[in-house]
Amino acid sequence: MASLSQLSSQCSRSVIVRLAPPEFDQLRALAFRRYPHHEWGTFARFGWRDTPDDLILTLAGLDSPTPGDLDEDVGNISIAERYTLRAALAAETHPLAVGVIHSHPRNCAPYPSLIDDDMDTYYADYFSGFAPGRPYVSLILSEMNGELAISGRVFWEKNWLLAERVVAERSPLSTWVAGVRSDSQESRHERTARLRAAFGDQAAARLRRSTVAVVGAGGTGSAAIEVLARAGVGRLIIVDPDQLEESNLERVHGSRPEHAIERTPKVSLARDHVRSIDPAVEVSPYIGSLPQREIIDAIVTADVALGCTDQQHSRLALSDLTFRYLVPSIDCGVMLEGTNGAVTGQIAQFVRFLAADSCALCRGMVVSHRLAQELMSEAERVQRRAAAAAAHARGDDAGAYWHDEPQLNTVGYLTTMTGALAAGYAIGWITGRFDPPFSRLQMNLVQQFFDVTNAEELPRSDCVCRRVRGWADQAAIDALITAPTHWPPVRRV
Ligand SMILES: [Zn+2]
Ligand SMILES: [Zn+2]
Repeated sequence: MASLSQLSSQCSRSVIVRLAPPEFDQLRALAFRRYPHHEWGTFARFGWRDTPDDLILTLAGLDSPTPGDLDEDVGNISIAERYTLRAALAAETHPLAVGVIHSHPRNCAPYPSLIDDDMDTYYADYFSGFAPGRPYVSLILSEMNGELAISGRVFWEKNWLLAERVVAERSPLSTWVAGVRSDSQESRHERTARLRAAFGDQAAARLRRSTVAVVGAGGTGSAAIEVLARAGVGRLIIVDPDQLEESNLERVHGSRPEHAIERTPKVSLARDHVRSIDPAVEVSPYIGSLPQREIIDAIVTADVALGCTDQQHSRLALSDLTFRYLVPSIDCGVMLEGTNGAVTGQIAQFVRFLAADSCALCRGMVVSHRLAQELMSEAERVQRRAAAAAAHARGDDAGAYWHDEPQLNTVGYLTTMTGALAAGYAIGWITGRFDPPFSRLQMNLVQQFFDVTNAEELPRSDCVCRRVRGWADQAAIDALITAPTHWPPVRRV
């Protein structure tokens, strides 16, 4: 097998490790149990997704030590053979990758020692006997200058790969690669001076090295994109299947009449708009929809995802990505209600999806006939409508074939407000400065008092979201939704 000295740095694939509570909280409590002077550690389980560009690893669980598994009498981590064997035997009962995670003393860089090298070389080989064809993961946690610092390396397909980024849900941390901080890049743009004054220099640097995915580049999404670009987010992944139409000009930021005439893809105009705001922002625009494979491949690299589509399939897929791949997200939507010309409701809704939150199904957010109709091909829709009309003519229930959905009206000030606020919450998470204090928020602008709802929605105990948190592709069969085959292929522009 390849030794650690052959650690491959020329490999084009980047490794991203994703962590989320409650497993991440348990991990920190365990790893820092003997802090600040002594090390401690645990075996762990990881899901993974292997894409053409990235290997994503997601913390799925801990095989915590029991008394006697680790030596209390020495300062560094010393693992008893019986503990190793227990983790290996457990791996025969689950499909996940095995990893070992340990701490280094405070202000001691998370850089593998020679003993760590020996341990990893031994374990990579040892666990491949029990869990063949799976990655072996090794992480080191430390506290450097008051900040959580993590390094990681993975043995995968006969190569050692270094983790370029470690991303934790709502917890800013620094990733260390080969003994140095990989992400010390500072943001000194004068344009973000006010933001830095409000949230600190560190916050601006965190934004600059972060990636945000925005699903939907219409009214709401384009407003979120604009706010994120101006705030100095380093990379934006933008996803939308549609081209601009004239009726979008009322609300899509960056759109101009010629875009409607030329039927410019919404993601292309969003990309150009971002570049005109800040050429330093890297944009990855995709013509496509969730849950197409290439779109998932992109979104699992993001720190945060925003759902700005008002589509059932997109909301469900985003919720799925949150618990399976640990990508925190905020789904937002707007609604205008009215009777006889009077506007009785102007509602902005925000739904928080964290890995441990109830999924969209548990929360009853998915209307099954709407979802089914969204996923139908045009030919099937035509057929269903005709069948519904025939049923109606016979006096039968047309709803068995087709539900006419009311046209959802929307206006630019409402979509702009909603997208901007969703972007604000993304900034709060990335900088670690604030958090949406709700799991679901509905604001009605035309009530005498803002009508704010914050229902805590409990998960269903039998739901898949309870069982496969962090399992990534190892729970692909349990995905809440898959993309229909009649959709056009994804295009990156
Ligand atoms: Zn070590
Ligand atoms: Zn659920």
